[in-house]
Amino acid sequence: GVRGERLPAREDVTGVSPALPAGGESEGRKRVSAYWRTGLDAYDDTRDDLAADATSRLSAHLHFGTLSPVELVQRARRHGGPGAEALVRQLAWRDFHRQVLAARPAVARADYRTKGDRWRTGRAARADVEAWREGRTGYPVIDAAMRQLRHEGWMHNRARLLTASFLAKTLYVDWRIGAEHFLYWLVDGDIANNQLNWQWVAGTGTDTRPNRVLNPIAQARRYDPDGGYVRRWVPELAGLADRFVHEPWKLPGTERAALDYPEPMIDLAEGVDRFRRGRDRGK
Ligand SMILES: Cc1cc2nc3c(=O)[nH]c(=O)nc-3n(C[C@H](O)[C@H](O)[C@H](O)COP(=O)(O)OP(=O)(O)OC[C@H]3O[C@@H](n4cnc5c(N)ncnc54)[C@H](O)[C@@H]3O)c2cc1C
Repeated sequence: GVRGERLPAREDVTGVSPALPAGGESEGRKRVSAYWRTGLDAYDDTRDDLAADATSRLSAHLHFGTLSPVELVQRARRHGGPGAEALVRQLAWRDFHRQVLAARPAVARADYRTKGDRWRTGRAARADVEAWREGRTGYPVIDAAMRQLRHEGWMHNRARLLTASFLAKTLYVDWRIGAEHFLYWLVDGDIANNQLNWQWVAGTGTDTRPNRVLNPIAQARRYDPDGGYVRRWVPELAGLADRFVHEPWKLPGTERAALDYPEPMIDLAEGVDRFRRGRDRGK
């Protein structure tokens, strides 16, 4: 027979994010009601705003099946308006990635459309991956996002795009290494959504512009204009004036020296050049 054991208490479970949300269907339903009341109408305008944190946060429920995507679409359509329509579009991405995976199960590991990449390996690449995982790349928005991931087991979609582009393109490290780290920490970690979004960003997937590289400084200025997201997750930078919060290396010498925060680990233009050369070789 099978002997049951008591579930361990939350504080005895190690190696998971300290701020995981509560699970289960009733929590999911509470979240839907609250979001429909307070967030949905503005979703289309606020979904990319990092500091506003105004997306639905329903992903873990959709992953575990404690909410049904079909029901959400029906409720969104009944509610109506641009916010609800935008949410339905995002749910369609979820379906799309599932369908791609169902048609080609190998793409959970293999490139969907290979680019002949010879990803960086070896000691320097491993050290770069470690800095990325720990949120000490020296690029504030990247570090904020990587720290949010560990703490909450969740990361904002815009931040997922930026951190994945940084690893796979700027650092030119195999997307599978990043995807594995995400799967470990994400409470919504999901083979279809995670692997195929990673491939989309790495340019080995279904993106029709596979060689675009997101610039973390330009993106941070656009999607975290007041630096609220960075200040929340990178307390070392919380006291900086707005114009330095995304580029602390521009601080005057003495102030820079007093800051306990790393220099940028790579020159962005050099990273882009290396990536483009790699892609040219792979043709
Ligand atoms: C590199 C990378 C890895 C990702 N890994 C995962 C993952 O493991 N699991 C996961 O559920 N999502 C993943 N996503 C997609 C997206 O980032 C999350 O679904 C979203 O951030 C979850 O937050 P939310 O529920 O507040 O989203 P909302 O913006 O409120 O969207 C509502 C729902 O639509 C779906 N959705 C939204 N955007 C996407 C998208 N781009 N692709 C597929 N479905 C989407 C999700 O089910 C989400 O819960 C990943 C995206 C990237 C760029």
